[in-house]
Parts: sequence; C-alpha cells; structure tokens
Amino acid sequence: MLSVIIPSFNEENNVEPTAAALSKLLDQNNIDFQLVFVNDGSKDKTWEKLARIAQMDKRVAAVDLSRNFGKEAAIFAGLQAAQGDCAVIMDCDLQHPPETVVEMYNVWLDGDVDVVEGVKADRGKENFFYKCFSKLFYKLLNKASGLDMNGASDFRLLDRKVIDALNDMPERLTFFRALSSWVGYRTKKVYFKVAQRQNGKSKFSVGSLVKYALNSVTSFTSAPMQLVTGCGILLFLVSLVLGVHTLVRYCMGRSLEGFTTVILLLLITSSVIMFSLGIIGYYLSKIYEEIKRRPRFIIRDSLNLKHKDDRNISNGKDIDLNG
Ligand code: UDP
Ligand code: MG
Repeated sequence: MLSVIIPSFNEENNVEPTAAALSKLLDQNNIDFQLVFVNDGSKDKTWEKLARIAQMDKRVAAVDLSRNFGKEAAIFAGLQAAQGDCAVIMDCDLQHPPETVVEMYNVWLDGDVDVVEGVKADRGKENFFYKCFSKLFYKLLNKASGLDMNGASDFRLLDRKVIDALNDMPERLTFFRALSSWVGYRTKKVYFKVAQRQNGKSKFSVGSLVKYALNSVTSFTSAPMQLVTGCGILLFLVSLVLGVHTLVRYCMGRSLEGFTTVILLLLITSSVIMFSLGIIGYYLSKIYEEIKRRPRFIIRDSLNLKHKDDRNISNGKDIDLNG
C-alpha cells in the first residue's frame, strides 16, 4: 500500500481538489493507497473539510495538530501516522503533479530503490531574488554537508525501511529533505515540473524562509562555527603585522600617530567578535531547544487511522498516535 502524506496549512480550497485528483488517478492505476492529510493548525476550514472527506472515504486519513508546528513537523507527523509500505510526501496545492506520484510508485515497484527523489526540472514561477537566494543556499549546503541537493524538494517517495529510520531519529529540529538523503539507502531521481499553485497564496513569507534556511543549515553543518575560527586566524595574522609595525615605530620614537588604525581595528575586531558571538549563540540556542526534548508536534485528533501494529487488521477504531 502507498501512503500519500500531505501537510496542509490553511488550504481549505485545496484539500478537496487534491484528494479528488489523487484518488482518481491512483484508482485508475490500480494502486492500493491511503491519503494522510496533516492539518498543521490551520485557521480556516481545512479540518472541517478534511473530516468530511474522511467520513466519505475511509482511505482518507487525517491528523490534526494542536497548533501550527511548521511544515517539517507536519511531515514527520505524517510519517509517524502513515501505514503504507511506502509513502510519498507532497504539497497540498498540486504544485507537485499527481502523475509524478504514479511514476515514483512504479520506479519503487520495479525494485531495488528505497528513495525516489522528486527533483525540480525547473523551479516554476518564482521571482529573481528567490531564485538567486535558493541557488546560493543549496550551493553552500552542498559544499558544507556533502549531499547533492540541487533542485531538491520535499516531494519524494520513501520505502518503509526509510520511514522507520526517519521515525527513529532522535533530533527535534529537522530538515526533512536533507535528512532523507542523509540516511542513505538506494536512491533514484524522478524529474518533475513545478506547476502553478492551485488556490491561495504561498504559506512561506520571506522571513519564514530565511528562518527555515538558517535552521536547515545549522541542523546540517557546523561550518559557520569554523568560520569563526577562520576569522580569528585572519585577525591574528593582521595583528602580527600591525604589532611589528607599531613596535618599530615606537623604537623610532614616532608612536603618537595612528589613530585611524586604532579606530579601524576597534571597529573591525568588535564587529567580528559580535558576529561570532551571534553564530555561537545561534548554535547554543539550537542545543537548548534540542535538549528540552519536547515532542516535534502534538496531535489533537485523528481520523481513519489504525494502530501501526495491526496495519492489516481493520478494527475500525482510531488510536491516538501521540508521542
Ligand atoms: N505547510 C504546512 N505548514 C506550514 C506551511 C506550509 O503544512 O507552516 C504546507 C502547505 O499547506 C503546503 C506545503 O506545506 O501543502 C507547501 O507550502 P507552500 O505551497 O505554501 O510553499 P511553496 O510551494 O510556496 O514553497
Ligand atoms: Mg506550494
């Protein structure tokens, strides 16, 4: 069975079309499936709509998070709830084409792959600034983490083995698309064209994207910390040169000049120190957040979900998957 995990945040106009499109296509292809919608604390009617769909079709399961935990947490809630032998993670706005789900499934069926990665053939309609930023971001991340993430997306199929491996990860601050590559396994790529968003607006503002980028980088590499060491070494070399220079001038009895140097040095060193403290502080705050061991998400309610251990027995009872 294939589980399709769909994180949804304020998608009241998208859940129905997405569920309908997926059900129709998967039925046509004779694929045994389950849709797992994760309502990520929507403020609109998303949950009501999901409840209605779930009531009509038992193959549509829904998990309701207690508040907006972010897309990452929603994906992990979906992974925990999914009962299929493999799962595809896709967006609720049909930007990830349903046909590609079938393609991924067939690649998986052909055997010998555990992860089928959806790679953006082109990035669709995005503004120039966003394109540059994401290019730079992935370049840095590729270099720092050693994972090839060009055109990477959250749209991918995972085998049960991989899902279990991800569910066993103890970390709380996750970066799904890198983490699912980091676990390894045999991977194949499938290219897809990013479609236009169906209804509504993107749920990510510039601010939240910057936060997401920072979070992702720091959860995958400590390179910024090494940058601090690099700055330290550089400043030390400069100070050696300047130190010799100052001493020579002192011996020649001309030590009163050089205020410009003093001011410049003060400005440069203090800003580098502040910047470095910021980086260290950021990592420290991440450690602080991790060490609290809070759950990644809290489930308020769930529909059409059976307990994992009796995946094949339908006792018709929903069991709370909290934890
Ligand atoms: N999403 C979510 N929680 C959030 C933000 C987004 O579950 O806090 C979901 C959203 O409902 C959608 C997917 O993540 O299904 C991708 O979001 P969106 O389309 O807004 O992002 P974009 O395509 O612009 O990158
Ligand atoms: Mg989208």
